Amino acid sequence: MTRSPFDLTGRRAVVTGAGRGLGQAIALGLAEAGADLILLGRAASQTSTRDRIAALGRDVEIVDLDVADHDAIAHAADQVNRDHDVDILVNNAGIIDRQDSADVTRQSWDRVVDVNLNGLFFLCQEFGRPMTRRGHGKIVSVASLLSFQGGIRVASYAASKHGVAGVTKALANEWGPLGVQVNAIAPGYIATDNTTALRADPDRSRAILERIPAGRWGDASDIAGAAVFLSSAAADYVNGHVLVVDGGWMAR
Ligand code: NAP
Repeated sequence: MTRSPFDLTGRRAVVTGAGRGLGQAIALGLAEAGADLILLGRAASQTSTRDRIAALGRDVEIVDLDVADHDAIAHAADQVNRDHDVDILVNNAGIIDRQDSADVTRQSWDRVVDVNLNGLFFLCQEFGRPMTRRGHGKIVSVASLLSFQGGIRVASYAASKHGVAGVTKALANEWGPLGVQVNAIAPGYIATDNTTALRADPDRSRAILERIPAGRWGDASDIAGAAVFLSSAAADYVNGHVLVVDGGWMAR
C-alpha cells in the first residue's frame, strides 16, 4: 500500500510546551498522524498530554525543560539526541506580557524574548545539528499574526514573534540545502490561556471577532493540521514559509 505523504508513522517529534493549548493540540495531532513524541517542557504540566498520547498507542516521554534556561537547553537536547533520532522539532512554548510600552521593564522584556525567541533559536541549533548531519528533518515554530503586525500593548511579544519569522527564514536558507525544512505557523486568535485577557474584555473581544471572516475564535485543534502538514513529506518543498492559520483575519 502507498504511504500517505501526511503519514508520520515511525517519525520522532519533539514538541515544546505540550501540556496545554496549542502545544497539546499539536502533539496530539502529530501522534494521531503516527508520530512518537517527546514532550519537552515543565514536566509537571505535561502528564495529561503524555497519557492521551500513550492511549493512542504511540511511544511518548517527558523531558523536563524551562526553555528560557540556556544551559538547560543543551543538557535536555543531549539527553534526547543520545537516545533518539529526532525527525521533527515543534517550537511551541511561548508567553505574552500585555502592558503599555511605556511601562515595560527590562526583566519583563528579557523574559518574553528569552522564552519566545532565544530558547527557540538554541533549540533549533541543538536539534538542527543532527538533522543536517543525517540530511533530513523538519522544524516547525509557532509564530503569530504579530510576526507581521504590531498588536496592541504587546511590544516584547511582537518583537519576539517577528524574530521567530526571521529565524525561520534564515535557517531555511542555511539548512534547506542540507535536507532540513524550517517553517512556521502563524495562528490567528485562538481560545487558549494566552488570550484569556482579550476574551474577557468585551470591546477587544467584539473588535477581534468582527474582523475574523470565519466568525469565531479559533480552537487549538484548528492548528494541528498545519503542524502535521509542515512536519510531513507533503511539505518537502515548503521551506522558509510562515503559514497563517487565522480564519481569514489577514485577508481583511
Ligand atoms: P498557553 O495555553 O499559555 O500555553 C503556553 C505553553 O508554553 C504552555 O505549555 C507552557 O507550559 C509553555 N511554556 C511557557 N513558558 C515556558 C518555559 N519557560 N519553558 C517551557 N514551557 C513553557 O498558550 P498557547 O496559546 O497555547 O500558546 C502556544 C504558542 O502559540 C505560543 O508560542 C504563543 O505565542 C503562540 N500563539 C498563540 C496564539 C493564541 O491565540 N492562543 C496566537 C498566536 C500564537 P506550562 O503549562 O508549563 O506553563
